[in-house]
Amino acid sequence: MFVLESKAQLEKAIAKAKKTRATVKFISFGVYAVSGSKGNFYTVKCEKIGNEKQVICECLGASKGLVCYHAASALSLHVGLAKQRQEPASR
Ligand SMILES: [Zn+2]
Repeated sequence: MFVLESKAQLEKAIAKAKKTRATVKFISFGVYAVSGSKGNFYTVKCEKIGNEKQVICECLGASKGLVCYHAASALSLHVGLAKQRQEPASR
């Protein structure tokens, strides 16, 4: 699990996600399944707790506090969805 603290960190994560071609499956808003290196899937949760944006992945790297590519991939999708939600429907 890591806490998203800055825009730079987010941009770094998105850049990382673009390099890896992980498959991200949408489960629900804030919950995603991201493909791992062995064809398995990891569940990644993006949650806003108070003012903290937490990204939780169930893989080993994330449990050590690393920004794994699963979290990065899920996050890049999540950010796009969150943006759409914030924008008032124009049509
Ligand atoms: Zn992970």
